[in-house]
Amino acid sequence: MKTMVRLVYASRMASGVVHDDLSDILQTSRRNNEKQGITGALCYSAVGFLQCLEGSSDVINKLYGSIIRDARHVDVTLLAYCDIHQRIFAKWAMAYIRADEVESLILRKYSAQCTFDPFAMSAEQALGFLAEIAVEREASLTK
Ligand code: FAD
Repeated sequence: MKTMVRLVYASRMASGVVHDDLSDILQTSRRNNEKQGITGALCYSAVGFLQCLEGSSDVINKLYGSIIRDARHVDVTLLAYCDIHQRIFAKWAMAYIRADEVESLILRKYSAQCTFDPFAMSAEQALGFLAEIAVEREASLTK
């Protein structure tokens, strides 16, 4: 039996990355993730990315290997990796969250500075933050 895992990481956007690059990342992610049974969420701001990936350990490990080497971001930092018995983001091949659209109440709840900085979040805060937004926006978030 294959193990199901959840991986959470933070990264900083590489200089020169533009809106079209973000669209490419999302498009590729949704296409590939759907095929491979990967679910998750990606939050983006000018500071960087916070991403959660859930799925079979072999596909998540392989994808994380590609993500680390992707030149569109830098300082890829693993926040959490654990076995799971159920998914949080089962509905989304990759939910996309713009940090500047997140309610200040949620930011305040999960960060000491009340602003989105994935490098200033613990693994627990990062996951709580993504999960709360996903649940709250269940109806409106693009799958
Ligand atoms: P391709 O069809 O080879 O590429 C898709 C598009 O991305 C093309 O336009 C290509 O030019 C461009 N591209 C690919 N790699 C790079 C690169 N290293 N630098 C610049 N442009 C590139 N992939 C997923 O499958 N699932 C995810 O959830 C996921 N999340 C990501 C999150 C972030 C923050 C980043 C930066 C990347 C993410 N990726 C994700 C992309 C991943 O790093 C690989 O690029 C992708 O998995 C390659 O898939 P492919 O071979 O089908 O893409």
